[in-house]
Amino acid sequence: MLNMIDMAQLQFSEVVQAAARIKGVAHRTPVLTSRTADRLTGAQLFFKCENFQRSGAFKFRGAYNALSKFTDAQRRAGVLTYSSGNHAQAIALSASLLGMAAAIIMPHDAPALKVAATKGYGAEVIVYDRYTENREEIGRRLAQQRGMTLIPPYDHPDVICGQGTAVMELIDEVGQLDALLVCLGGGGLLAGSALAAAALSPGCRIIGVEPEAGNDGQQSLRSGAVVHIAVPDTIADGAMVTHLGAHNFAVIERAVDDIVTVSDAQLVAAMQFFAERMKMMVEPTGCLGAAAALNGVVPVEGKRVGIVVSGGNVDLARFARLVA
Ligand SMILES: *Cc1c(COP(=O)(O)O)cnc(C)c1O
Repeated sequence: MLNMIDMAQLQFSEVVQAAARIKGVAHRTPVLTSRTADRLTGAQLFFKCENFQRSGAFKFRGAYNALSKFTDAQRRAGVLTYSSGNHAQAIALSASLLGMAAAIIMPHDAPALKVAATKGYGAEVIVYDRYTENREEIGRRLAQQRGMTLIPPYDHPDVICGQGTAVMELIDEVGQLDALLVCLGGGGLLAGSALAAAALSPGCRIIGVEPEAGNDGQQSLRSGAVVHIAVPDTIADGAMVTHLGAHNFAVIERAVDDIVTVSDAQLVAAMQFFAERMKMMVEPTGCLGAAAALNGVVPVEGKRVGIVVSGGNVDLARFARLVA
């Protein structure tokens, strides 16, 4: 059990420290605008494009931040994690940049591109069945056997604070926001973003967006406790999580205003919009925030709205099938 003192330790100052650690290593990604998107919504939308981040998603920020805090002994033993994809690639790349070994536990049905990229960065991939096996358990066992440090994909203070640097950069670049829409899986990105937005743009409405098929975050925020669900059936493979992390929920509960959901069809429409109008390839999960604005799920008219476009890792064949 985590106690309240653990939770209270997560502060914006740690996002600022994370920004210093990743500086010059992570990309400062562009903030793009679209007159068409603004016309369709009647708002001013600012897209923070983490699909252009190293390894193709914001996850590099949290992974590199966490690994750069390792002691010499931890570096020698290496890092272990479980992930359905983007955190795996982020840990694998960060470990190779920092000269340490990485072992990644991945689901047997993870997108082929993500498995190939993870191996390409030099990590060892260990496959498990996400419907019958418990990855946390496998992770704990392997970490103990090998002496490796486990860095989970979202439920970790250094991961959360690293992820918060994207919204820190966004507000630094465009100024005060009325609302911020953030893709939500386990809550690393949302919790970090909330720490940054609450400190840098007070009064900004902070909204998490998750797939309709898995609204555990929405249920959790409304009920005041972490709600567990079955693995959701959605095209948003980066948000196929069964529950928010404990560290994540502690921040989300105190700093996030609302959590809304979008359908897979709305995600596909947003992918088409990004491809056709903004010439970018965004993976389904990366479209969660944008889909909420473009489909009127969140009222944005007349507002300045930040949208985190969280990643762009989707194989071409799958991308083509979805947008066709
Ligand atoms: C992991 C991921 C998310 C969800 O992030 P959490 O920190 O788990 O909430 C959203 N989009 C992409 C592209 C991701 O890889």
